[in-house]
Amino acid sequence: MANNKDSSFSCNQEDNADDDDLVLCVSGSKIVRRGVSDYKISDKVVKFVNAGGEDLQNEGDSSIHIVHDQAFKGGDTLRTNETILDCGSLSSLYQSARFGNFSYHFDGLPCGDYLLDLHFSEIINTNGPKGMRVFDVLVQNEKVVSELDIYSYVGANRPLKLMDIRIPVGLDGVLVIKFNGVHGTPIISGICIKEAPKVPAYELQQGCLAGHSYVTDTPNQFNNVRTKHISKYEKKIEELTARCQLKSNECYEAWMALAALNKQLDKVNTELHKKAFENHSLIQSMGLQEIKLKDAISMRDHEKKSFVKAINELGKNIEIMKLEQTKLSRDAHECANLIPDMDKMLSAIQTQVTKFEDLKQKYNEEVAKRKKLYNQVEEAKGNIRVFCRCRPLDKHEVSAGHTMVVDFSASKDGDLGIVTGSSTKKLYRFDRIYTPNDGQVDVFADASPMVISVLDGYNVCIFAYGQTGTGKTFTMEGTEKNRGVNYRTLEALFDTVEERKDTFSFNISICVLEVYNEQIRDLLATSRTTKKLEVRQASEGAHHVPGIVEAKVESIREVWNALQAGSNARAVGSNNVNEHSSRSHCMICITVKSKNLLNGECTKSKLWLVDLAGSEKLAKTNVQGDRLKEAQNINRSLSALGDVISALASKSTHIPYRNSKLTHLLQDSLGGDSKTVMYVQISPSEHDMSETLSSLNFATRVRGVELGPAKKQIDYSELQKLKSSLDKAKQDLRLKDEAIKKLEENYQSLEIKIKCKDQMHKNQQDQVDDVTGQLELKTQLCKQLEKQTSQLSDEVKEKQDMCSTLQKRVNLSIL
Ligand code: ADP
Ligand code: MG
Repeated sequence: MANNKDSSFSCNQEDNADDDDLVLCVSGSKIVRRGVSDYKISDKVVKFVNAGGEDLQNEGDSSIHIVHDQAFKGGDTLRTNETILDCGSLSSLYQSARFGNFSYHFDGLPCGDYLLDLHFSEIINTNGPKGMRVFDVLVQNEKVVSELDIYSYVGANRPLKLMDIRIPVGLDGVLVIKFNGVHGTPIISGICIKEAPKVPAYELQQGCLAGHSYVTDTPNQFNNVRTKHISKYEKKIEELTARCQLKSNECYEAWMALAALNKQLDKVNTELHKKAFENHSLIQSMGLQEIKLKDAISMRDHEKKSFVKAINELGKNIEIMKLEQTKLSRDAHECANLIPDMDKMLSAIQTQVTKFEDLKQKYNEEVAKRKKLYNQVEEAKGNIRVFCRCRPLDKHEVSAGHTMVVDFSASKDGDLGIVTGSSTKKLYRFDRIYTPNDGQVDVFADASPMVISVLDGYNVCIFAYGQTGTGKTFTMEGTEKNRGVNYRTLEALFDTVEERKDTFSFNISICVLEVYNEQIRDLLATSRTTKKLEVRQASEGAHHVPGIVEAKVESIREVWNALQAGSNARAVGSNNVNEHSSRSHCMICITVKSKNLLNGECTKSKLWLVDLAGSEKLAKTNVQGDRLKEAQNINRSLSALGDVISALASKSTHIPYRNSKLTHLLQDSLGGDSKTVMYVQISPSEHDMSETLSSLNFATRVRGVELGPAKKQIDYSELQKLKSSLDKAKQDLRLKDEAIKKLEENYQSLEIKIKCKDQMHKNQQDQVDDVTGQLELKTQLCKQLEKQTSQLSDEVKEKQDMCSTLQKRVNLSIL
C-alpha cells in the first residue's frame, strides 16, 4: 500500500542522517533504513525473537534461528500479508509484529555487554501520516531510542532497523526492554540480542569511547552518552531558539501584515457590504423596473390590442361613412340638380307671393270695406236696438185665471198692443217682438250680429230690463238645457274666433261682477277684499275697474266655468238668490283684444252682458230700511240709465254717466260707436200691466235715441265673390308655402347631414391620428424601458462581478 511512497522515503534516507542522532540515545548504535538480508555467523546472536510471530527456522540463507515471540508482557500480535520491501530474505519477520502496551523481559543472560538490534516495520498505519505512531524505547530503564516514528523514516511495509545498541546486563542476568508510546502505540517486529565485542583495554582506560560499558561502570557510560546528548540537544536548542526567533520575527511580520490585511479586509468588507446593499437596492429597483416594464408591456399590449380594435372599427366606420358620404354627395348632386327646378319654383312662388301681396292688400281693403259696410248695415239697423220679450203666463197665473193683456197680432211687424181697457189698446213698436212661444234660439238670433261687431272692434252692451219675474235672467242666462243670450253669444264669439284664426289672433278675458246698492262686487275674486272697487278712466274712452279679476279664457268651457264661479259667488251671502239677484245688477264684461295678422291692426273691445235689477216701483209699497235703500239705489241706477240714453238721444254735450255705478261702468259701451241691445221683458198678466206699461215706456224712450240712417243698399254678392276668390288665393298660397317649406327643410336637413358626416369623418380622422400618435409614443416608451432594463441588467452584472471579485479577495485575505 505504501509502495508508491518508496522513492520519496528512500530519497530522504540520507537527508535524515542528522535525525538519527536525535532518535538514538546510545553512541555506536545506528539506524538502517534498508533491510539487511542476513546476519553473519560472526554476529554471535544470543537470541532473536520474531515479535508477534512464529519460529523462523532457516529463514532465507541465514543460519540464524529466529524464535517465536516470547519474553513479552502485554500487547497484541499482528500479521500482514503485504509484501515487505527491501527486507531481504527476512520478510516474514516484518510481516508479524507486537503492538500496544507491552515490554520484553529476558533473563538468564550472562553478565556483560550486549548489542541489541530492534526490527520495525509499519504494517498498521500504512497510509500514514507521519507522527501517528511515535514511541520511546527504554533498556534497563534508560532511554535508548527517543521518539521513533517508523513511518517518517521509511514509510509503510518497509523494514527499519536500530542496530548495535550497546546494553549492559547485570549479575541478575535480566534484560528489560520497555516500549513507551509518545503518540499512538509502539510496535516491534523483531528483537535480536547479540554478544557485544570486547572493548580494547586502552579504550577502557581512557574511558573516552562512548557506547561501551561494563557491568561495573554502566551508569558512567550512560552519563557520558547523556552529556553528549545534552550538548547535542543544547546545540539543537540554540539552533531551534534562533530559528524560533526568526520564526517569531516572521510571525510578527506576518501578524502585522495580517493586521494590515484585516484592516484592508474590513475596508473591503464595508465596501462589499455597501456594494451588496447597492446591489440589493439595484436588484430591488431592477425588480420594480421589471414589474413596471412588465406592466407597461402588458398595458402596451392591451392598448395595442384596443388600438388595433379601435382602428379596425374606425376603418369600418370610415368605410360606412365613405359610403354614406357618397350617398349624401349623390343626394346633394340630386339636390343641386333640383336647384334649377327650385329656382323656377321660387320664381313662381315669388310671383305668387307678389300676387298674394296684391291680394292681401285687396283683401285688407275688402275687409275694411266689409267692416265699414257691416257697420253701416248695423248702423242702419240702429246702434240701439230694443227687443221686447213677453213671457208666458205661469202656472199660478193660469190657475188664478189671469188674463193676458198683450196683443201679439202685429208682432211680426214689431208692433205690440197692450189692452188697457175693454176698448183701449196701447201700441208700442220695437225692433222685434218675441211672443211667449219664441224660444231662446229666436231671441239670440237677433243679438248674434253683435258678436261680429265685438270681434270687429266695437263695444257692445246687451242688457235685459224689466220687472222682477218677467224673464230677464231667463233671457240672459237661461237654463242648462235651454241656454240664454250670455252663453250663446260667447259660444258664437269663440266660433268666429276659430273661423278667423288664420287672419286674426284674439285674446279674450272675462270679468263677472254685480252692482248692489251702488257698490261693485267682484264675483271672480277668490278672497273678499274690503277695498272698494271703483271705475277709473284708463285712456281716452276706455274705462276699467282697477283690482278686478280678469280671467283669461280660451274656450267656451272656460267661459262657462267663469260664469258658474260668478253665479256661485253671487249666491254666497244671500238667503234668497232670486230675490237678491233681482235687487242687483249682474254684469259680465268680456274684453276682446284682437290683432289682424295681415296688417297688424290691433283692437280692444268690450262686450257687456247685463241682467239688470227688477224695475218695479217698490216705492209704492211702503218699504223701509234696507229694502228702501235697495229700491232707491235700483231706481237711481235705472233712471240714470234712462237719463244717459236720453242724453245720448238728444245729443247732449253732457252725458251723465257718473250718476250711477251702472252707467259709469257701461260708459264706453253706451253711445258713440258702440252698439246696444236691450231686451225689455214683460209679463202678459193683467196684474202686472202697470209695470209692463212702465217698462214699455222706458224701452220706447231708449229706442227713440236714434232712428238710424236710411237703409243703404249693399251688394253682398260682389263681396261674396271677392271673399271666395280671396279664400282660394289664400289656399293656393298656403299650399305653395308648405311645398317651399318642405323643400327648404329637405335641403337644409341634407346640408346638415352632410356637414355632420363631414364633421364625424374629420373627428374620426383626428381620432385615428391621435391613436397612431399615442401608439408611436407608447412604442417609444417601451423601447426606452427596454433600453433602461438592459442598462440596469448590465449594471447588476457589473455589480455582481465586483461582488464576486471582492469575495475572492476577502477569501484570499482570510486564508
Ligand atoms: P227675472 O229675472 O226677470 O226676475 P226670471 O228670469 O227669474 O225673471 O223668470 C221668472 C220665471 O219665469 C222663471 O221661472 C222662468 O223660468 C220663467 N220664464 C221667464 N220667461 C220665460 C219664457 N220666455 N218662457 C218660459 N218661462 C219663462
Ligand atoms: Mg232675475
